[in-house]
Order: sequence, then structure tokens, then C-alpha cells
Amino acid sequence: MDSNSITRTVASVPRQLWLGGVQKPSASGKTFEVTDPSNGEVIASVADACAEDGLEALALASQIQPEWAATAPRVRSEILRAAFDLVHERADDFAHVMTLEMGKALSESYGEVNYGAEFLRWFAEEAVRIGGRYTSAPAGNGQILVTKTPVGPVLAITPWNFPLAMGTRKIAPALAAGCTIIVKPAEDTPLTMQLLGQVFADVGLPPGVLSILPTSTAPPLTGPLMADPRLRKVTFTGSTAVGKLLVRNAADNLLHTSMELGGNAPFVVFADADIDAAVDGAMAAKMRNGGQACTAANRLHVDNAVIDEFTDKLTSRIAALRIGPGLDADTDLGPLINERQRTVVARLVDDAVRKGARVRTGGSAPVGPGSFFEPTVLDRVPSDALLLREEIFGPVAAVIGFDTEEEGVAAANDTEFGLASYFYTRDSARAARVANELNSGMVGVNRGIISDAAAPFGGVNQSGYGREGGTEGIEEYLDTKYVAS
Ligand code: ADP
Repeated sequence: MDSNSITRTVASVPRQLWLGGVQKPSASGKTFEVTDPSNGEVIASVADACAEDGLEALALASQIQPEWAATAPRVRSEILRAAFDLVHERADDFAHVMTLEMGKALSESYGEVNYGAEFLRWFAEEAVRIGGRYTSAPAGNGQILVTKTPVGPVLAITPWNFPLAMGTRKIAPALAAGCTIIVKPAEDTPLTMQLLGQVFADVGLPPGVLSILPTSTAPPLTGPLMADPRLRKVTFTGSTAVGKLLVRNAADNLLHTSMELGGNAPFVVFADADIDAAVDGAMAAKMRNGGQACTAANRLHVDNAVIDEFTDKLTSRIAALRIGPGLDADTDLGPLINERQRTVVARLVDDAVRKGARVRTGGSAPVGPGSFFEPTVLDRVPSDALLLREEIFGPVAAVIGFDTEEEGVAAANDTEFGLASYFYTRDSARAARVANELNSGMVGVNRGIISDAAAPFGGVNQSGYGREGGTEGIEEYLDTKYVAS
């Protein structure tokens, strides 16, 4: 796209709230600004949803909930499939708007358009396969019929790092299951979801089923919604701290909750690994999305027998990454989402270096506009460095050595989180053993990217609970009903 087309695309992004699928200003009359993290400039102003808007969306959602639940699964499926097609048709718009508001390199935004759309297709296919169970009562005195019903109106709260996919991963299974849904996108990146609202309006999703409510300040909107007995579920992707707060709030109204929270993924390289493949995998697991993914490799644990070769190769690859505005054709790595995030990354790097880590490349923020941070490799990271405990969420690879398989696995599991783990080995017995021993919801074996709409995504321990995607993902939006006869 040339710059005129980009300007036209941005101008065409719907600016009002999608209240039940219809564009409406906020009852507060307020708007808030969305900025480009590569230069801090304002891209657009969008309506700033308030409590009244939220309750109006919920009134619409709960009113149409029975009708939507009774809509033929095939019809729900075809709406999702039409949305999948339309997102692809509008891939240029989605990718450019996403890069502008979130910062990632344009090629990564196109990747997310594919990934995000895939949830629409996958759950279009799952909508017609919601099953149940039938059996005879053991006492021989009747039948047990088990059916699935939609849980009811859902609130989805999404983060800024995957502005499309984190929305479709919740919207698609909710709609497939027959739930109505209200989406509150992250304040840094509401525009991509605004485009998705247009897609659903254009494919004829019935009014009331979906609302999209951007807001500058979440709690005044989400608090009253979660306190309202008409809401039945909250699904959240974001930090562990906010997730816990939401679970506490959900208790009062006994809401269903799905919590996809923080990660601290280990990436383990055993001495028998294909080192070049492991470096490729580490580049993907660490640098995808500028390291701003909850599945990002946070710690690279490498057998001391191969640590020099691995770290040298990784360092030359990471040092070659070009940082710049995501829309520039030669940019590999865009800015971090905002100054706050850059401060977090800088603090973690400074702490590790102060405690003895060695900077192999990068290590600081470049001067100039935009919230950039240099692609960085640290080795000899000491065990008390904070970045081994906390999620970095930036382009910083921290390398730590180990000597035996037991030691490598123990180091990998030494975290309160448990979202993803990765490891590289050419020994199939070791592969089976270690996959079993790693304590996380997802494990990549000789793979640096594991996300797939057809697979259950989610964590254990402080990474939360619930699964998104796969055949499991729709279950999060279904209740179980038992009929005795
Ligand atoms: P991050 O640190 O990655 O921004 P957050 O957990 O703060 O992660 O944010 C993820 C999502 O949760 C965003 O949409 C944000 O607006 C929302 N959020 C943050 N705090 C609250 C809160 N107290 N109540 C409801 N939503 C919140």
C-alpha cells in the first residue's frame, strides 16, 4: 500500500462503539487517542466506552441470547466462515492498521491476519459439531442424556500484543457455541477490533450478538458488567495480576472464567540438538512479535557442551535484525508497545547486567523517537537475575548454561508460570521423556512456534486455566445439561 492508501484505510476505520453491531458514540460523549508507538503520533481518536454503554450492550446481548442460542448451528457456522473470507479480503487494511497501532513489522501483521482469521474458520467448522452423550442408567431404570448449552452473554477482555487474534480466539468459539459477546479491546490497540466489527456487520451477524467497546479505562466499564447477573462469563488474556483481580470479581456473580495469563517460557537446547535448527527455533520463539508474546522464550537454557556455538550463532542472527517503524519494508523489529513496556525491559536488562550477565549484542534503548529497544543477547546470566523470574516481553534473549538433562529440565521448570516450553534434541527417547517432564500447558519439540487454531492453547499454575482453540476451545463457552428420562 502507498501512503495515500494507508491514510484512506486509517480514515475508514470505524470510530464509534460497535453497540450490538451498530456504530454509536459513547453515552459519555468522550473519545480517546490511539498512537503509533514508532513515533508517538496520534493515529485516530475512538469513542471511549463508559458504564452506561456497557450495560446497554449487555441488555442487547441478553435480549438476543435465546434467539442466538436457537439459531441453527449451520447458520452460525456460515457467518463465521463468511467473516473468515472477509478478513482475508481485507488483509491489507487489517495488517496496516495493526502495524500502525501496535508497532510490529508489517510481515508479522500479515502473519497475524492469517492466524487470527484461522480461528474464524476453525470454529465455523466446530459450530456444527457440538456433541453430547447418551447412556443407560446403571440401575437399569432410565436414560442419561447429556447435552451442551451456551453459557450465555460473555465479556472478553483482550491484550494489545495480538490485536486481531486475541479477539477472534474468543469471539469465534463464543459465536459458534451460541453465546453473545461483548469485547473490550486493549486501550493501546482498539482499531483492529473496530475493523473486525465492520466485518461482522457486513456478513450479517444479527444485531445485539456482538458489541465492541473500546475504552481508555477498563474498570469503570468492566466492573458494572461483571456485577450484572445477566453476564455469565468473562474470558481474559493479559497479566496474571489483572487476571487474579478479575477472578476475584467474578466470584460475586459466579461467572465462568477463562484466564490466559503471563508466561515465562523456557527454551532448552540439549547437546545432541541440531544447533542450526535450534537457533532458527530460538529466533522464532524469542523474536516473533518483538518478544511481546506470552509464549515468548524468556530463558534459553543451553547445554554447556554447545553453549558457545549456539550463543555465537544466535548473537549474529539477532545483531543483524534491523529495527525501525513496522511499515518500513526493511524493518525486522518494530518498537515496543509503549514507554512503560520499554522501561520494564530496560530495568530487567540493567538488573541482569548489574548482577554479572554479559551483553553479547544490544542492551539498551536507541536514542530518537518511538519506544524501540535494541535486539539483545545476554549470556552468563546469573541465577538471581530478575528476568529469569519475570516475563521480559521484549527482544531480549537470556542464555544460561546447564550440564545434565536433569539439571536442564529442573531449571526449565523452576518457575511459577507454566504456559509454554520448548526444547531441541535429536534423541527421540529424550524427546518423549522431556515433553512429559516439562510442566507447562504447551510444549514445542524441535519447534519454535506452536500456536495453531486447531490446538488447545493455555497454561497451568500462574499462567492461568482454560483452553482456546482446538476442540477444547468451544467447551469454555458451553454448559452441560443432564436430562433424565
Ligand atoms: P498488559 O500489562 O499486557 O497491558 P494487562 O493485564 O494490564 O496486560 O491488560 C490486558 C487487558 O486487560 C487490557 O485490555 C486492559 O485494558 C485490561 N485491564 C487492565 N486492568 C484491568 C482491570 N482492572 N479490569 C479490567 N480490565 C483490565
